[in-house]
Amino acid sequence: MKSVIWWIRRDVRLEDNPALQAALQTGLPVIPLFILDPKLLQEPPTRRQSFLFQALQNLDEGLHRLGNRLLVRQGTPLQVLQRIMQEIPVHAIFAEEDYSPYAITRDSQIQKALPLKLVLGLVIHHPQQVLKADGTPYTVFTPFSKTWKALPKNFTTYPVPKNLPSPDHPLPGISLPESTASAYFPASTSEAYHRLDSFIQGPIFEYSQGRNLLAQPGTSTLSPYLRFGLLSVRTAYQAALKALISTMRAEETKGVETWFNELIWREFYLSILYHFPNVLQEAFYQHRRNIPWRYETKEFNAWQNGLTGYPVVDACMRQLNETGWMHNRGRMIVASFLTKDLLHNWQLGERYFMQQLVDGDPAANNGGWQWTAGVGTDAAPYFRIFNPILQSKKFDTQGNFICQWIPELSRVPQQYIHEPWTIPQDVQERSGCIIGKHYPAPIVDRAIVKDRVMTAFQS
Ligand SMILES: Cc1cc2nc3c(=O)[nH]c(=O)nc-3n(C[C@H](O)[C@H](O)[C@H](O)COP(=O)(O)OP(=O)(O)OC[C@H]3O[C@@H](n4cnc5c(N)ncnc54)[C@H](O)[C@@H]3O)c2cc1C
Repeated sequence: MKSVIWWIRRDVRLEDNPALQAALQTGLPVIPLFILDPKLLQEPPTRRQSFLFQALQNLDEGLHRLGNRLLVRQGTPLQVLQRIMQEIPVHAIFAEEDYSPYAITRDSQIQKALPLKLVLGLVIHHPQQVLKADGTPYTVFTPFSKTWKALPKNFTTYPVPKNLPSPDHPLPGISLPESTASAYFPASTSEAYHRLDSFIQGPIFEYSQGRNLLAQPGTSTLSPYLRFGLLSVRTAYQAALKALISTMRAEETKGVETWFNELIWREFYLSILYHFPNVLQEAFYQHRRNIPWRYETKEFNAWQNGLTGYPVVDACMRQLNETGWMHNRGRMIVASFLTKDLLHNWQLGERYFMQQLVDGDPAANNGGWQWTAGVGTDAAPYFRIFNPILQSKKFDTQGNFICQWIPELSRVPQQYIHEPWTIPQDVQERSGCIIGKHYPAPIVDRAIVKDRVMTAFQS
């Protein structure tokens, strides 16, 4: 009897999984397969990989309950799939469509040789569906979002299947690589649902304000779960829709609608990557590709390690280094600081984020960096420079976030927390924080920043 392969990539879940459903609908035994592709593996595993491996481990437990097991193989996907098809008769391979240039090339090569069927699931609307009237892709968010919203969304989400028949003879596989569980992001679908429920029951209604406050859990923290598909975007969308229907208050409606927009930003950047894959190598705009960036190892290291002397920047970078996640407001502040205040190439920051982030996603990360640096599609204008002191006063007024991540500053009186270099000497001594000794003096004089940026961009 023939089997079908459910090739798992960024859809590590049983619930609302269109690729799995398509496999099940054939009525044939299903082989849930994960391929360890050497091209995508790094040693030691990044946080992102660890999160994925843990999630796969949990998926395997779920599969076990349904009478099946996860098959793990290592190698080039085409070769691995061909090998399996020599071992057992396979009717078809089902996988969720992915839009990175690597995934597109890989899948189209496989499709030439094998019956690979790609299924929509990573997004609500395929990038080919959200187009301008003339059939070309959008490069500006607002019109993209209008078209996205207007498209019909009459889908129903799929429950976890009741059982998942496996082939009579299990195929030999290998174990998943060693990985460490994150205390901050347990990699299970139950955790994803728990986060979604808690967010939908409260914070979503205050999201239009709460999403900017650094010390407050005002956002969903679902990004790693959406990144690896432990939660489907359709499930997230439907939960938010229920929240929207449950309220008549204008402020609460605004909160939910603002959150919808974030889900659309996610699809906007996936669409940009799909239509303009070159953004992974260069700025979207040609006239922003030859900016004379500076490079100073000392400054770059200070930025990476949260030692710039600007507390809000340092707190955000330390949050990233410790947890693998950073608040969206923080991502904009530190990206602006690197690319504008220090005038370092945005691609260095992009790369560092990909090394550290548990939710590191080529489309969203690239889009975020190009936007902040002012070189990308629908970007902030290049002369907009986030002032870290004003951002800090506005979005961490009491300095609670700063004190959480920078213990050296925890005894500093609140009035100096955003600009510790202004602390009088005697207060520095009393609060056990001598600037230049316990906490760095600012690594850049902000007075020169604007002129330097203008000159570089205008050149
Ligand atoms: C420089 C920079 C780099 C970024 N890198 C990434 C990245 O690698 N991976 C990533 O998922 N997001 C990235 N973002 C977008 C955003 O910061 C995170 O998605 C968000 O902070 C995740 O927290 P959350 O789940 O609580 O988001 P919420 O505010 O609850 O938003 C819900 C979901 O919408 C999506 N989303 C929200 N904002 C954006 C956005 N601006 N662009 C695309 N999708 C968005 C995410 O999937 C997120 O989980 C980046 C932003 C910037 C400015």
